Amino acid sequence: MTKVLGIDIGGTHLRWGIVEDKNVLCVEKIKSKDIDDFVEYISKIALDHPEIDVISIGIPGIVNNHKIMNVPNVEKLNVYDLKDQIEERTKKLVLIHRDVRLLFAYDLERLSLEDKPYVLAFYLGTGIGNVIKVEGQIVKGRHGFSAELGHIPITGNDKICGCGKVGCAETIVSGKALLELFHSKKLSGDFSDIFIQHKNHPLIHEFIEAFARIIAIEMNILDATTLIIGGGVANMIGFPQGKLNRLLASHLRSEELIAGLNIHYVDDSPMNSMIGASLIAKEYINENSHR
Ligand SMILES: [Zn+2]
Repeated sequence: MTKVLGIDIGGTHLRWGIVEDKNVLCVEKIKSKDIDDFVEYISKIALDHPEIDVISIGIPGIVNNHKIMNVPNVEKLNVYDLKDQIEERTKKLVLIHRDVRLLFAYDLERLSLEDKPYVLAFYLGTGIGNVIKVEGQIVKGRHGFSAELGHIPITGNDKICGCGKVGCAETIVSGKALLELFHSKKLSGDFSDIFIQHKNHPLIHEFIEAFARIIAIEMNILDATTLIIGGGVANMIGFPQGKLNRLLASHLRSEELIAGLNIHYVDDSPMNSMIGASLIAKEYINENSHR
């Protein structure tokens, strides 16, 4: 049975685990900023665990065919040939994907959506994570920059995004934007209760409406109706799923889209990405062993 070293590197933490089948055998977590050299750090874990067959890594940035193109929030992870360097040291197969691909693999499996040709996923966390599957294929784009939904420009929005551009969706729809709103408008109570304490506040309505609009943009372009919605913000207590569903339906182009709308809200456990890393690795091995 394949043993996979799953590694999920986020803006703040790196989490790794050894996964066999769907069992996560051990998990550890470290602050991403405490890692000086990712090649060395990951190679050491692999060499300390010789039972591992594959190393499956998710990163918070852009990946093109397992090469790292751009990681805005973890400077030292901008190692274009990370895969080759770790493979050289460990002699193990290394796979690198965008972090949301790990979650998506896990969600497709647990929701039994693997055979659905059209699925869109929206993970609303610190930013907006998006995965597009159309005609049975995950859309990656010419350079790996597809599905950067958080960075579509929004009319009337002149905020500067972490990516350096002006007006990106993420500056108004994201956990970061919600936290800023909470502080700048001096909303009462705890941030974690914002959707309960302020459920009728016009600013919360605007936030959900903005999220609905960007989802509707993607649905109207792609004519896809099966959605996965998750991430830290969508899992906050009192998150208004019903309101989001209604607002979303109000922006859809056709009756077919509205009638077919099938939204799966998913929980947000750190184990999800570990199991997803293992699923992606097994899929890769299966595909490549038949060639
Ligand atoms: Zn941006």
